[in-house]
Amino acid sequence: MSRKPFLAGNWKMFKTSAQARQFFSELIKLSPLKDDREVALAVPFPSLEASVAAVADTPIIIAAQNVYFENEGAFTGEVSAPMAAATGARAVILGHSERRQFFGDTGAWVNKKLGAALAAGLIPILCLGESLAEREGGRAFDVLAAQLKEALNGFSAADLASLVIAYEPVWAIGSGKTATPETAQEAHVFIRRHLAEQLGDKTAEAARILYGGSVKPDNIAKLMSQPDIDGALAGGASLDAAAFARIINFDA
Ligand code: PEP
Repeated sequence: MSRKPFLAGNWKMFKTSAQARQFFSELIKLSPLKDDREVALAVPFPSLEASVAAVADTPIIIAAQNVYFENEGAFTGEVSAPMAAATGARAVILGHSERRQFFGDTGAWVNKKLGAALAAGLIPILCLGESLAEREGGRAFDVLAAQLKEALNGFSAADLASLVIAYEPVWAIGSGKTATPETAQEAHVFIRRHLAEQLGDKTAEAARILYGGSVKPDNIAKLMSQPDIDGALAGGASLDAAAFARIINFDA
């Protein structure tokens, strides 16, 4: 099956609204988007509305980087999925390793956040990945299986028709160490096989599985040449419009 490539950026905690507007004006000038691929940028909450407005005449999708699982209530500092969706954001990153590591997001929370995102009509970009110790200890696939099982628990194939997964080995995030295309491919095959067991072949074949971890303009084409790598989630390289334009315009 051919899956439409999905190329996403994650700004993390960078850029004000004014800087976001500047970025999109540069990106749009630089890059007539090819229509054989989808492009998304996950921006900080305060820049969601400005970013949505800035890409209004383009197919670029704006995403949030997290949501809380309750719709409203006494949860100071949190933002709900309906609130993110009301800005015009169409997707959300869930379970990023920085959320798991620094903000205590557990697998059970990621599962609840996934439910909230789906109910709000947001495309979930579910992040999974093993640490260096887990990889070196030969437990990478056990960790991926456990993260997937916990995140997807209770959802049907129909619920997860829009699911996008990002395989992001923690040791490759922000480290300059990219997984080799072969290592990433092997993990993606494992994830797809696991999806097939949990949700059936059709959903597994349709799900886009992105690779994330030091994706750059000069490694994107090689990564994308692997049959089960359906896109990328780029952090650092998505902050620069010229670099991100080169990533999204990689030669297929
Ligand atoms: C990320 O933020 O999800 C990421 C993969 O970061 P980087 O590309 O900087 O490694």
